[in-house]
Amino acid sequence: MDFDDTPQEAEFRAEARAWLEAHAPAKGSPEDFSTGMLEGTMDPAEFMRRVKAWQHVLVEEGWAGITWPTRYGGRGGTSIQSSIFTQEASRFGVTTASFAVGIGMAGPTIMRHGTEEQKDRYLGPMLRGDEVWCQLFSEPDAGSDLANISTRALRDGDEWVVTGQKVWTSGGDEADWGILLARTDPDVPKHKGITYFLVDMKTPGFEIRPLKQMTGSEHFSEVFLDEVRVPQENVLGDVNGGWACTLTTLANERGLIAGANRSSDSLALIELARKRGRSGDPTLRQQLIDCWIRQQIQRYLGYRLQTALSKGVPPGPETSVMKLFAAEYLRRLGNAALEMLGPEGMLVDDTLPTGVDWQQRFLYAPAIRIAGGSNEVQRNIMAERVLGLPGEIRVDRDVPFREIPKVVS
Ligand SMILES: Cc1cc2nc3c(=O)[nH]c(=O)nc-3n(C[C@H](O)[C@H](O)[C@H](O)COP(=O)(O)OP(=O)(O)OC[C@H]3O[C@@H](n4cnc5c(N)ncnc54)[C@H](O)[C@@H]3O)c2cc1C
Repeated sequence: MDFDDTPQEAEFRAEARAWLEAHAPAKGSPEDFSTGMLEGTMDPAEFMRRVKAWQHVLVEEGWAGITWPTRYGGRGGTSIQSSIFTQEASRFGVTTASFAVGIGMAGPTIMRHGTEEQKDRYLGPMLRGDEVWCQLFSEPDAGSDLANISTRALRDGDEWVVTGQKVWTSGGDEADWGILLARTDPDVPKHKGITYFLVDMKTPGFEIRPLKQMTGSEHFSEVFLDEVRVPQENVLGDVNGGWACTLTTLANERGLIAGANRSSDSLALIELARKRGRSGDPTLRQQLIDCWIRQQIQRYLGYRLQTALSKGVPPGPETSVMKLFAAEYLRRLGNAALEMLGPEGMLVDDTLPTGVDWQQRFLYAPAIRIAGGSNEVQRNIMAERVLGLPGEIRVDRDVPFREIPKVVS
């Protein structure tokens, strides 16, 4: 594992930093929009305007889609370069979070499984941020067991007619396009009768109801589909072969969540303890050093993944280790912060002198534990694929979906 930049990587980092210093707003400045979506501190329309404007700057200057081929407007660079740019950008008041589903998940899936027409149609506007994407996978009875989806798609000539319900759709109310899973054959085992669709969110038949989280923001929605018509040309991969595309999307999703850069968090908390004269508190010191150590381990796990990627080895179960580790680190960090702040941690006010809205981070931490596969599911993956322990008992794997008993509410 290499910890230091190679001379070429150091050169790339210096170039990226210089460019960001010249173009990106500083953290904490009035133009800073880096936490607008997560912490609900900015009007969603204003946030979207700023994040799209920033994406345009990235595209124009050649810093968008660093690993994407130049043919689709990317830089044609390496995943190490992408990681370096993300690290450097995290020091500034910018984010590209609205494009995570598109550029980070749907894009790589279309590149791998799509037709040339689909690549030409979708990848350009996706990378420019002109079309924002959401992920229509989870349903009330299909989350960890995603293959249990019951949203149906019935063929009608050159179209599919989709009816059902999705839930926890991040950014569903703002998205232009969605990646959607629907059941197209209920007479085969559950993983074999799913098709992956690219759907225009403005199609008649969509109803989107935002869900309010305990952070106060409305990050995700329930999405109801009532006979939504989707053209056959919007099927990605094979009809009934959607599970292969789904696995590509989910691997990219885990990598995104695991690799999200939060480099300064534990240091910011240590700084806060110093400012408040609490850095001598023996119990708090234990918590602070625990967070710092975890952050370092997370960084090294990241290096390990990046080293593998730079050698051309595709991400495997290490993304599960990283995702699990990140969720646990953020939980501990939020707890330590709120314990240190005491009653002040209950206040919601932009003028709090902490510099970081720790209350929001504390409230958001449980979401990381669930999103993109819960902690328990990551542990199952590690047990089976890393430790070689016996697999879970899956009684419904070879049974036609139609015959699997359903919970009737
Ligand atoms: C912030 C956030 C954003 C999200 N965004 C999206 C999105 O954009 N699009 C989308 O489609 N979905 C999204 N989701 C949904 C997410 O993918 C699901 O919440 C997740 O897969 C868990 O599914 P579930 O909520 O149905 O929980 P369930 O699967 O019902 O699990 C309930 C509990 O049972 C445990 N459990 C389940 N199965 C097992 C098992 N086999 N072994 C041990 N324990 C088990 C789980 O760990 C959990 O504790 C988002 C979720 C969050 C929190």
